[in-house]
Amino acid sequence: MYKLNLSEINAFFAKIAQNEKLYIPADNGKGGARYTEWAEGVELSNACNTERSAKDFFFPQTENLVDFKVNGKKIEVIDSREECEDFVVFGVRACDVKSFEILDSVYLTDPIDSYYKNRREHGTVISLACSAPEETCFCRTFGIDATKPAGDARAYIAGDSLYIEALTEKGSALLSSLGIAETDDTAAVYAQIAETEKKLAELPLAALEAKDFTKKQLDAFNAPVWAGLSQTCLGCGSCTFVCPTCQCYDIKDFDTGHGIKRFRCWDSCMYSDFTMMAHGTPRNTQLEKFRQRFMHKLVYYPMNNDGVYGCVGCGRCLKKCPISMNIVKVMKSLGEVTE
Ligand code: SF4
Ligand code: SF4
Repeated sequence: MYKLNLSEINAFFAKIAQNEKLYIPADNGKGGARYTEWAEGVELSNACNTERSAKDFFFPQTENLVDFKVNGKKIEVIDSREECEDFVVFGVRACDVKSFEILDSVYLTDPIDSYYKNRREHGTVISLACSAPEETCFCRTFGIDATKPAGDARAYIAGDSLYIEALTEKGSALLSSLGIAETDDTAAVYAQIAETEKKLAELPLAALEAKDFTKKQLDAFNAPVWAGLSQTCLGCGSCTFVCPTCQCYDIKDFDTGHGIKRFRCWDSCMYSDFTMMAHGTPRNTQLEKFRQRFMHKLVYYPMNNDGVYGCVGCGRCLKKCPISMNIVKVMKSLGEVTE
């Protein structure tokens, strides 16, 4: 494992930023954190996690796909993709690293999404083990170990030091190029892991279990509880926009006056025009839209992905929903129905 004193962390960031863009969680001035490009003066946040997830790096909220120029009957198609630069994201928590696997399973299987793939190939992820999980965290429900996040490299902040180990060839190539000292003395890391495990076990949602809803799919789909759960949903889509695993998008054309820009942007199954077709939308009521979001994460996705759920327990939707509705309440209600 590599080790450096925390007083040297900005020098460590500077070394990475010499060669490629580096993004770290920095305080957003509103009590939270957001990924910010590192430059002299940008400090690593102590927040448990960022308000927006790290999926933005690989699946941005809006992305230009292609341009067209129309001249009479001739249409010129312009590949507007800019060559993606290499970049490093530091400080990704275990739940968010797991969310990349879920996005990969969608975007990197046939037909492969070349835009997403390009960004994944250019990005190096340095995760950061949690030491102060929040009351809204429930990653353990989905078997995610907050003390051992995946990624290309994994970092720990323990005592007055940053410890970091490579997990992939990409991570190893990056770390070995930085000239950091190695150490065998990792006692502080293991002590911190033990302490964090105790905190995780004491969280309010520590006992929440992800039941196998897929076994009783029809019971879950037809359960009367959906009416009560969805009754006050505003359809605002906040839960989908902060969610690291939500992956739906819409494609639109914009006439700039000099040509057409075709872009994609995040969509939300909670919106009234989601999957709108010529005949209308297949889900007319908010109950149907609401049910779709949770059935997808808790039933359909696991059915097609060896039991892996489409939620990583990051807790963002618990904080953001204006009516305090969230996936935990849905899981508890469905758990009662399908027992
Ligand atoms: S559903 Fe909520 S808790 Fe689960 S991954 Fe999405 S935002 Fe996080
Ligand atoms: S954040 Fe809450 S109110 Fe808004 S769409 Fe999601 S569940 Fe409905």
